[in-house]
Amino acid sequence: MPKSAIVTMSTSSISLALAALASLGGGAAPAMAQGDPDDLDTQMRTEWTQTCADWDEWDKPGPPFRVFANTWYVGTCGIAAILVADGHGGFVLIDSGTDAGAQVVLDNLQALAIDPHDIGMVLESHEHWDHVGGMARIAEATGHGVVTSREAWRVFATGQPDPRDPQFSTLEQMRPVEVVNTVTDGTVVGVGNLRLTAIATPGHTPGALTWQWQSCDDNRCLTVVYADSLSPVQSDPYRYSDHPEYVDTFRDSLARLAELDCDVLLTPHPSASQMRDRLLAGDLSQGMNCAEYAEIQDARLSQRLALEAGQ
Ligand SMILES: [Zn+2]
Repeated sequence: MPKSAIVTMSTSSISLALAALASLGGGAAPAMAQGDPDDLDTQMRTEWTQTCADWDEWDKPGPPFRVFANTWYVGTCGIAAILVADGHGGFVLIDSGTDAGAQVVLDNLQALAIDPHDIGMVLESHEHWDHVGGMARIAEATGHGVVTSREAWRVFATGQPDPRDPQFSTLEQMRPVEVVNTVTDGTVVGVGNLRLTAIATPGHTPGALTWQWQSCDDNRCLTVVYADSLSPVQSDPYRYSDHPEYVDTFRDSLARLAELDCDVLLTPHPSASQMRDRLLAGDLSQGMNCAEYAEIQDARLSQRLALEAGQ
């Protein structure tokens, strides 16, 4: 176990992580990695719910845990980063968190005994610094730049916010990162046998992406959706009502999300989809789904437009 992981993790976490490694097929199973994988998954989830609160701090470290089968949460308490395994030692990482949060992500990979160089592809949800501000740090560790939406690539390549963004006036710059490829709606990407489908969901940002993939254990296959934030947040002087075409696009994204095949919903802000509550309930495939999430964000957009109409 790397030294820093020993410093930051409890003894139980270390044994859990080693067991996780064995279940990921990421190398030879250490002698201490014994036990029922389901029990270990439960313990790791419990550790997360005990460490992290709802709407917790963006850079607060939280332990990694398995979402389902090939899918892991490796983000901070407040900002998601998702790791998907191809089952043969290769991985896809979605989102980095902030620059400081990316170090938590790397620590979580280390806790799972995953070499960052085994990450073969890095994806993103939307071009805001709280979710992708750490991409340069991730690129240094993995050797890979990021795959972005065609609409968002310039933000990553330059580190400068998009003037079309509803939050443009308050967005922070990011360290530029190499864009290795761009995707559009329906593009399928992956490593090994793993495939993830990009779904363009502009709204919260012009370049926002949702990702969808299959996650199978011995008994069942679930469709996992990492839905983008899709929250109508803006900074002065932006008014959604000044951009009717963008509002139409936003509504289309919400309608699209609502209709997706979606057994397990994950979101860049975990609390936006009540992840902690669902963990505590014991099953992330229960509780809020894509349709409910879309409905909530659609209502928020309507409220925002009504507010603007009343000003
Ligand atoms: Zn955002």
